[in-house]
Amino acid sequence: MEIDGFRGRLITADHAGYDAARAVWNGAVDRRPRLIARCSGTSDVAAAVRFARDHDLEIAVRGGGHNVAGTAVCDGGIVVDLSAMRAVWVDPTGRTARVQGGALWGDVDHETQSHGLATTGGIVGHTGVAGLTLGGGIGFLMRAHGLTVDNLLAAEVVTAEGGIVRASADEHPDLFWALRGGGGNFGVVSSFLFALHPVGPTVMAGPVFWAADDTTDVLRFYRDFVADAPDELGSVVRLGTVPPLPVVPEDLHWRPAIAVACCHAGAVEDGERAVRALREFGTPLVDLLAPTTYAAFQGGLDDTVRHGWHYYWKATDLAGLSDDTVAVIADHAYAAGSPRSYSAMFHMGGAVARVPLDATAYAGRGVAHNIIIDAVWLPDESGEHAAAETAWARRFLQALQPHRAGSVYVNFLDSDDGTSRIREAYGDHTYRRLADVKAKYDPDNAFHHNKNIHPG
Ligand SMILES: Cc1cc2nc3c(=O)[nH]c(=O)nc-3n(C[C@H](O)[C@H](O)[C@H](O)COP(=O)(O)OP(=O)(O)OC[C@H]3O[C@@H](n4cnc5c(N)ncnc54)[C@H](O)[C@@H]3O)c2cc1C
Repeated sequence: MEIDGFRGRLITADHAGYDAARAVWNGAVDRRPRLIARCSGTSDVAAAVRFARDHDLEIAVRGGGHNVAGTAVCDGGIVVDLSAMRAVWVDPTGRTARVQGGALWGDVDHETQSHGLATTGGIVGHTGVAGLTLGGGIGFLMRAHGLTVDNLLAAEVVTAEGGIVRASADEHPDLFWALRGGGGNFGVVSSFLFALHPVGPTVMAGPVFWAADDTTDVLRFYRDFVADAPDELGSVVRLGTVPPLPVVPEDLHWRPAIAVACCHAGAVEDGERAVRALREFGTPLVDLLAPTTYAAFQGGLDDTVRHGWHYYWKATDLAGLSDDTVAVIADHAYAAGSPRSYSAMFHMGGAVARVPLDATAYAGRGVAHNIIIDAVWLPDESGEHAAAETAWARRFLQALQPHRAGSVYVNFLDSDDGTSRIREAYGDHTYRRLADVKAKYDPDNAFHHNKNIHPG
């Protein structure tokens, strides 16, 4: 098979690398595309899209390949694969970074931190920049510097016709609005231009762990602690077992525990002050909060969510952290069968909440906390394990029903979260506006292998 004007690699089922090329982060996803077009640059992306349209092939677009629903790969169609396009160019004077569409957050942090700069990215280094950005982008820096999309200055986009356009506040502003939260519905982004901010390189960051039995007390304390926290303090609560990382004492490995991981985006002394009360609360099992490089901290969780393990997610924004909500979380968080399953709660607010709701397509700006319930099992544990872990995640979400905010982060939706949950992610008004932009830029819904917005 050949594509006119394509200089990258074309991979089909008869190639030795086919199985590796079709694998995504979630090992439970097993799809067999007819063709994987591993692009070497923007022109290849455009050629691959034109080829797909001319041959009526279903299109999947792969950035980091990290989405739990596995939408980066399809059955029978073509994967427009940007995984070889991972370059990051930093302009330290203008404080911007241009990032190719297949880069991972570890690539961005690595290059930008050489200049003491960063932008809001995900909390796991091997997450793709593209999918994360297009859904909104939440992470430790968001309360200080906004969502990832709040730092997006421009994007180079390959359209559904295979043309190349630039979207920014001045060029195709409707497309630029939709790209900032509306996902991969509007074109293939071959590169992003981000604003950067001075961060670190040394920051006050790390987790504090307490025994699972202390969960109710820790969560009640945390609720009040973060309500008064400065914007520079980003935090994520992780409930599950202590991961067996080299930095954690071995006798604690796999022990049920609640952790609050923090990263303070300002000076280390300010960070020390901001986390003092947290570290002094109760009797921690271990306190790993310390001055550390931002890049090292950002890679700290990479090994706890490995490629190829099997995953199933449920998520929701929370209406608040009332005592009743805390009780539900404490009741369900440790009921999973697998020691690898966990849940994580992001503290939002700060700069995220100060951007007007209609400025971007990201709709969950008003909530203070969201939760993601991550069922995990190993590839050779499928069958009963899969069913049990999946059931745990569903039960947990069901129990949270009365405590939900009525919105959800689109990037946390799994493959069985249907149209109604995509609408929940945006709300009616934003969804309708997205559908109008979709009708203009992709009226045939060529980009539908995603959290799909139907052309209005
Ligand atoms: C372990 C883990 C940790 C995570 N942590 C965070 C976090 O801290 N913050 C956060 O916000 N999210 C987080 N996420 C969710 C993450 O944002 C999504 O999984 C996101 O889809 C990953 O992007 P990707 O490029 O790797 O996705 P892929 O699987 O490659 O793509 C997913 C979809 O994005 C679209 N897409 C991908 N690349 C492009 C492109 N170049 N142009 C147009 N569309 C494209 C396509 O529609 C594709 O189907 C995490 C996910 C995992 C698995």
